[in-house]
Amino acid sequence: MKHIPRKRFGQHFLADTAVLDAIVRAIDPQPGDALVEIGPGLGALTQPLLERCERLTVIEIDRDLAARLRRNPALEVVEADVLTVDFRALSEARGRPLRVVGNLPYNISTPIAFHLLEQVDAIADQHFMLQKEVVERMVASPGHKDYGRLSVMLQWRYDIELLFEVPPEAFEPPPKVDSAVVRMVPLPKPPAVDPARLGELVTVAFSQRRKLLRHTLGRWLEQQGADVAFDLQRRAEEVPVHEYVALAVQLQSAAPSV
Ligand code: SAM
Repeated sequence: MKHIPRKRFGQHFLADTAVLDAIVRAIDPQPGDALVEIGPGLGALTQPLLERCERLTVIEIDRDLAARLRRNPALEVVEADVLTVDFRALSEARGRPLRVVGNLPYNISTPIAFHLLEQVDAIADQHFMLQKEVVERMVASPGHKDYGRLSVMLQWRYDIELLFEVPPEAFEPPPKVDSAVVRMVPLPKPPAVDPARLGELVTVAFSQRRKLLRHTLGRWLEQQGADVAFDLQRRAEEVPVHEYVALAVQLQSAAPSV
């Protein structure tokens, strides 16, 4: 039966075989990999992945699509909202860190990135199709107009690379935006920083991008009673990731013990 794409689930199915080939080549799946696909849909990516690995776990929210996927015995189908999925448990069940892939529903791509960040210890790598503008924010360097909270919150923990861009015509139905494929590999020796603390201070720093940090972060640090060394005569977009991390670490060690 023909599936009618559901807008609320961000359903834009990949229809360009050259793009599909390029994604599979970028992932380079190996037999034994613990691959997990988010949003398999009608299986455009699922099928070529399965040809290269023995097993594949897929997470699909759409009941009709999940039912179709269950007909393939090589697939472990998790019918759920990906934002509720316990990736650590999936990794434990497979006995190794996960390789997570997917042409993501764009409306929830940032929440998905943060959901995975919380469980990054269970992840080997991530390959995603996303809205190009989101990927540009993920990979942006200090001084670039796209550098912001998303850049800092992901770059402190992942090596991130925009692999290639994909035009709307590659999908059916075509989305209104350009897309790009991104690779995210967790850093082997991440700094010992509390992500919640880092998130809090980065949100404050970028709350008013145009202002000098003394007006935003400076006030916040004062309220915290924190005596830390940090140059506040800059704008948030000028500060490299490692300096935000160092500040969060300073705050952690300066925090009164309870
Ligand atoms: N992988 C397919 C392809 O490339 O043709 C479909 C990609 S489509 C952009 C996004 C897929 O994610 C759809 O199958 C949709 O039903 C599914 N999806 C949307 N929201 C989801 C959620 N919260 N949890 C799991 N899957 C979701």
